[in-house]
Amino acid sequence: MSSTTRKPDWTPDDAGEAFASRIVPGVGGGHDGLSAGSPPASAPGGTRPQLSVDDYVADVLAGDRAVLARAITLIESNAPAHFEQAQEVLRRLLPHSGRALRVGITGVPGAGKSTLIEALGLALIGDGHRVAVLAIDPTSSLTRGSILGDKTRMERLSRERDAFIRPSPTGGVLGGVARKTRESMLVCEAAGFDVILVETVGTGQSEVTVRSMVDFFLLVLIPGGGDELQGIKKGVVELADAIAINKADGENRAPAEAARAEYNRALHYLTPSTAGWHTRAYTCSAETGTGVAHLWEVIARFREHTTASGAFAARRREQAREWLRALLDEQLRAAFYNDAAVRAALPGVEAAVMAGELPATAAARRLLQIASAGNS
Ligand code: GDP
Repeated sequence: MSSTTRKPDWTPDDAGEAFASRIVPGVGGGHDGLSAGSPPASAPGGTRPQLSVDDYVADVLAGDRAVLARAITLIESNAPAHFEQAQEVLRRLLPHSGRALRVGITGVPGAGKSTLIEALGLALIGDGHRVAVLAIDPTSSLTRGSILGDKTRMERLSRERDAFIRPSPTGGVLGGVARKTRESMLVCEAAGFDVILVETVGTGQSEVTVRSMVDFFLLVLIPGGGDELQGIKKGVVELADAIAINKADGENRAPAEAARAEYNRALHYLTPSTAGWHTRAYTCSAETGTGVAHLWEVIARFREHTTASGAFAARRREQAREWLRALLDEQLRAAFYNDAAVRAALPGVEAAVMAGELPATAAARRLLQIASAGNS
């Protein structure tokens, strides 16, 4: 914000000096009782002063939650100009990220995830931690108001200075939501949050996505009648580093203990999610707090154990590579389908395949050749 003569974006190119509006630099600080670098929190753009990359980086590193929120809004924006700026902010913040413990939490709606996150978060803050809660809810793009974005959730935690809660980004497919959440996680780490809780609802694919970005994965279940393994996919159990049987209070205590024993028996036969770590089931009550501290002890023990064995660092490295490959897949696919020559040829080639005139393999190769010819 250095120029006194920059025109607003909406000024017509050929307007000459006819438009009186000019963008002027803001005051340096101390204005209206506000310190420099702490503008009000809301979306990028709008009427608030624009932040430069330097502003974002400095204020996020200073732990300013309002600017952290704006940086995440920038990351979530689909506008190309915001994308470029967000990537530059991320590149600068990356060396300051990575020091938090990243914990994924999943379970069906109503299992008690948000109650548990609030109880756990408050306990962690009491121990001197700073806790960020992010959510991945792929259904939010359909419903707009997301299940996980409900404002009344985690009310007590949200009032804490050392907590930062961000609902799931809306719009877009799981891949896009995942990218935004992963990048938001890095920014939270750079802002000094040392525990990141990534919450998701049980949809199958979203658990795999969250597992791919966290160190520890917690599955929250509730005791139900009949076969305890029913209704929850074995694949999801195999992603977990611990299972919390929640609502183990009142008359639910005995069924919860029974469920815990049953899961522990079943876990013997499953491949552990993390090499060298035995996934076990525990009971807790997010409402009364019983067992919540023990869950954190398990998570802390996991960190110690896997750090010593090297599994912790190995997983992070592998996640970074998988993430790169996922981005490459996404961008290659987008480049292919956006290629003008491919778009022109695709309907004809598809019709030929559908009519049985051209084998699909040959058709795919032909389209890829068309795309690469266009790019060379
Ligand atoms: P989420 O959809 O998984 O986030 O579930 P919530 O945290 O919103 O909890 C769903 C309902 O279960 C709420 O009415 C909670 O008060 C209740 N609940 C959550 N944890 C417990 C618990 O440990 N014991 C009991 N009895 N109820 C709980």
